[in-house]
Formats: sequence, structure tokens, C-alpha cells
Amino acid sequence: MHLSRYLLPTLRENPAEAQIVSHRLMLRAGLIQQEATGIYAWLPMGLRVLRKIEHIVREEMDRAGALEMLMPTLQLAELWRESGRYDAYGPEMLRLRDRHERELLYGPTNEEMVTDIFRTHVHSYRDLPMTLYQVQWKFRDEQRPRFGVLRGREFLMKDGYSFDLDEAGARRAYQRMFVAYLRMFARMGITAIPMRAETGPIGGDLSHEFLVLAETGESAVYCDRDLLTLPTPKDDVDGNGDLDALIQAWTTPYAATEDVHDAARFEREVPGERRVHTRGIEVGQIFYFGIKYAEPMKARVTGEDGVERPVHGGCYGVGVSRLVGAIIEASHDEHGIVWPDAVAPFEIGLINLQVGDATCDTACETLYAQLVAAGFDVLYDDTGERAGGKFKNMDLIGLPWQVVVGPRSLKDGQVELKRRATGVRELLPIDAVLNRLASV
Ligand code: ATP
Ligand code: MG
Repeated sequence: MHLSRYLLPTLRENPAEAQIVSHRLMLRAGLIQQEATGIYAWLPMGLRVLRKIEHIVREEMDRAGALEMLMPTLQLAELWRESGRYDAYGPEMLRLRDRHERELLYGPTNEEMVTDIFRTHVHSYRDLPMTLYQVQWKFRDEQRPRFGVLRGREFLMKDGYSFDLDEAGARRAYQRMFVAYLRMFARMGITAIPMRAETGPIGGDLSHEFLVLAETGESAVYCDRDLLTLPTPKDDVDGNGDLDALIQAWTTPYAATEDVHDAARFEREVPGERRVHTRGIEVGQIFYFGIKYAEPMKARVTGEDGVERPVHGGCYGVGVSRLVGAIIEASHDEHGIVWPDAVAPFEIGLINLQVGDATCDTACETLYAQLVAAGFDVLYDDTGERAGGKFKNMDLIGLPWQVVVGPRSLKDGQVELKRRATGVRELLPIDAVLNRLASV
């Protein structure tokens, strides 16, 4: 991509309305634009990050055996009356009417609709287990939308729903999702710690929130430092095997948000030097809810014994758009964003320090073509901006690698390569750049 033809409205100054660093940087780096309170347009570079995150989420959901589908954002109120939630939901739900005076709502979540789809098509244990998911926009008229995409009103969520014959089956589905979540967050370059969460009226131990530790998070969290260094489950965990030991390793060390924190237990179980007390951002939550929706909505399956029973369900949310902000909260410095490689909008920023100089232009265009042909996403700064401004901008937008081409080093056939995260620079021959980047 040539920067001269791109839409990247970066800002030098901090926008006054943004209180926390990720919101400031998302506006300054030209990722989003606010259209109404808690409602954002995703500009081209912001969308690239969102898509990278979605892609990782999909790969891990698919690996765990879940099936992707897509439900509409608008739903009939009638469906929500079946579960009793239409009246219970309150002012967070955006309600509307169509020209025939039919009551609709913009979905804040999709348990009712997915249960309706399930009951229409699945009736036998032979078709179970089944997990369906989608990546779709949600609307919640939050009381305090703030911090940019971290607490928006319209936001992108991955929502998954599992269906099983009984609680034991549902527990396995839950475990598969637990592992998929550990893997997807690790792949995004962040540490998201599973913390036991309130399960509501159903009780049991089957709800966890996944939190990214950050001072700016909305929840106070308490956990054992050991959790920060636990290894991520390996590729070969296909979810069919026994996941008990793995889940045990992740759920035994103490970890709790303030809602469920038990101070006495924390002090008893975790030695002083391992006690972490900070704040966190909830980027996902998984939940077993049993027959809460299946019962009133009559989603029933026939078991091997020929008996019909309500199907056992769980739901699994990931805040896809919130993750963009959460990743920035976890990965930035005083110069700007530091994108983890896997979610960076472009992998390489190529800077031409002397646009108009035939040698520099040719060298850059040749290198650009080579890198693109090798499969790299490259943003080529071919604008007439001063060198200082180009460096600042490139640091602000946080691409993992910068390749700087200037007339002086180019005389010796050399260019500079800089790793954004460490600031480490190296001079290398221009024809060595491709191999160098391909080898990391
Ligand atoms: P919160 O406690 O932050 O309000 P929640 O528990 O109500 O979130 P869930 O119903 O669990 O949210 O939704 C699944 C995921 O969607 C959350 O883990 C979070 O990452 C994301 N999410 C929820 N509300 C918002 C929002 N207003 N803006 C952005 N992302 C959100
Ligand atoms: Mg939640």
C-alpha cells in the first residue's frame, strides 16, 4: 500500500475527549472515527487490525470444532418474549418498530435466536455435540460508554453457543472453548487470564472471564503471579482428548475479579511475593447455562434411550472490537502503538526519506515489489513529508518493522531496519532485507 494513496488521518496532538491511552492512540493513529457516543467508524487501518483479530478467533473456533454462521443484527421481540428476557432486559436494549408496527430489537446477544435455529433443525442426540458461532455487531445502550472501543454501544463480538445432551457433554464443550480462548489470546500477543466469574442463578463452577491486565481496566483483579508464565496449550490439543489436567493447571492458581474476590483465601493460598493486585479488561467470557433457554423455548433432543429432554447450552463471547483497544493498552510506549506481529495492520513500514530522488524512489519501489511478492503486507511511505515527521508517524502507528531508505546509506547499497518493539536498528545491504525479514 502506498501511503500517498491511503486514508490515514494521523494526529500530532492528543484529542481532548480521550481519557486513556488506547483511545488516544486509536484516534491519533487514524484507526477509528467517532460517529456518535460509543459508535465508531473503522477507518482502513483500524479495519485491518479488526480483521486480523477476527481471523485468529475464527481459526481457533474452527479448530475446536465450532461451526460459523451469521445471524441478523435485528431480531423479533416475540422471540425474546419466549425466554422472558424482553421485559427483563431494561434500557440497555435498543428497541424499534418497523412500518408494520412489528416490535424489533437490535441484538445485544443471541441466545434466543440461536436456540430457535437449533430447535428448528436438530432433534436427536446423533447430531450432538454442536457448537455454532458468529462474529457480528451487537448493540447495548450502555449507561456509561467510554474509553473508545473498550466500552462502546455498538461493538463487534464473537458469540458462540454449544448444545449438548447433558451436563457432562456441556462441560466438555466448555473445556474446548476454554482452551480455544487461551490459544487465541496468546496468538494475539496478549496474556488474558481466566478468572472464575459469577454464574448467576445456575451456580456451579462453569463461568470464566478472560482478563487482560492493565491499569486502566474497569475491574480490580487479584491473581497468582504464576499464571502469567503458564505455557499456552500446544497446537495438537484437538479438544477431543482429556482436557481436565490442562484446565486444572489454569484454574487452580488463585485468580478473581473483585466481584468474587475472597481476600482471606488469597492471603492463605498465595505467598506475598506472588500476589498480583491490579486491574483488568474483560476480553472474553464463557458460561454454562444449562437448560435456561431450552426449557422455555422447547429446544428438545431425543437421547439414545428414546427420551426427549431439553438441550444443555453454554455461551462463549469474545469482545473483538474491545480487543483492539485492550491490545494497545497492553502494548504501547511513549511514541505510540507497538503492535504484536500477529495483529499488526501491516507487517512492514517502508520509509523513503527522499521522495523525488530517482535512486531512492527506484530502490524503494523495487524493494516494495519484492516484499509484496514474498507475501508481506507493506505500507510504503512515499509522501513528501519531512524525515522527522515520517519517523514519528511510523512509530505512532506501530508497525513491527521499519525499513528506512535514505540517500546517504543507499550510496553504499545499504538501508536501515528497525524493530519497533525494541528500537534496535541494523544497517544491511538492500538485497539482504527480504531474506532477513523472511527469516524471523
Ligand atoms: P462488561 O462486564 O464489560 O459489560 P459483559 O459481561 O456484559 O461485559 P458479555 O455479555 O460477557 O459482556 O459479552 C462478551 C464480551 O463482549 C465481553 O467479554 C466483552 O469483551 C465484550 N463486550 C461486552 N460489552 C461490550 C461493550 N459495551 N463494548 C465493547 N465490548 C463489549
Ligand atoms: Mg461478561
